[in-house]
Amino acid sequence: MSFRALVTDKRADGTVRSTISDLDEASLPEGNVLVGIDWAGFNYKDGMALAGIGGLVRNYPHIGGVDFAGRVIESHDERYHPGQAVVLTGWRVGEWHWGGFATRARVNADWLVPLPKSISTRDAMVLGTAGLTAMLAVHRLKSEGVKPGVGRVLVTGAGGGVGSMATLLLARSGYVVDAMTGRDSVSKDLLALGADAVVGRDVLAPSPKKLLAPRWSGAVDNVGGAPLGELLKQIEPGGCVASVGLAAGDGWDGSVVPFILRGVTMAGIDSVMQPYLARVTAWDRLASLFGFAAYEHMVTEVGLGELEGVSREILKGNIKGRVIVSPK
Ligand code: NDP
Repeated sequence: MSFRALVTDKRADGTVRSTISDLDEASLPEGNVLVGIDWAGFNYKDGMALAGIGGLVRNYPHIGGVDFAGRVIESHDERYHPGQAVVLTGWRVGEWHWGGFATRARVNADWLVPLPKSISTRDAMVLGTAGLTAMLAVHRLKSEGVKPGVGRVLVTGAGGGVGSMATLLLARSGYVVDAMTGRDSVSKDLLALGADAVVGRDVLAPSPKKLLAPRWSGAVDNVGGAPLGELLKQIEPGGCVASVGLAAGDGWDGSVVPFILRGVTMAGIDSVMQPYLARVTAWDRLASLFGFAAYEHMVTEVGLGELEGVSREILKGNIKGRVIVSPK
């Protein structure tokens, strides 16, 4: 039995190149569940892997795709049966293990989550790692005491996948959301997702001060870098920043002053290695909270042949919302 995949390989000069190929099913890696993939998602990490940067991929040839959803074809694990709809996000699939840019994947059953009945495999990839991560971040803010109705919250990188999901989820949870974007072209989209206001990246422009006037009770930060340092200075006493991403860099010149004078918390969010029960809970929360119709204008469908182009665009920060991939 053969399957179709976007295969990424390393050339002698160290650069990587991806081509669509038909492979024998026997070439799939080890695992106890074989899944027929309906949809994959495209994330920032996929952009890095297809561009051969960040050292994410261990071995070549490789099949990328950190998220996918589909139906079980064959299972040697009692939790899964043929025809069952499943989703996979993270666990280093698409990095260390072959991923979702293919019509089939063989994986470890522990990495899968049964899809809630109200979510289609397409819906699952509209959400993908971005939706799961945004849900975890929103839940973390709540558990750190940042409640709806108390002040405003900021989402950075709001035009991207995680940011747009977080904007919608926070708004639907009753928060008053400022959505930060560097792109005027996505302002209307962010207001349609429920943002109360759209703000430019200048709200986190460099300042020599160690503290600034408190402006937000909490934030979901997708950009990291110098803007994160400026964000911490503007969090209200006792507030919290859920640190998700590094689109603007992985470090900043900061001080501990916001932590020790305002009791600000910085909470790290890792969606990749979340245990099974936490994933099931997050997917159930997404099933009841997310508004798919309200998000559809942020979704772009592509095929395997378009992924190298999408990779270049996501690395430049040009992708709006979520890109989902039909591997057929
Ligand atoms: P996207 O590329 O879809 O979104 C990132 C957004 O950040 C861009 O759309 C842009 O939004 C903004 N941005 C890009 N560059 C800059 C910059 N230099 N300065 C300020 N803003 C910038 O990526 P994702 O939403 O998929 O992921 C967001 C981040 O979260 C990534 O760093 C990713 O690696 C990380 N991530 C972490 C996870 C975890 O488990 N912790 C899981 C998933 C992702 P705009 O144009 O609107 O300003």
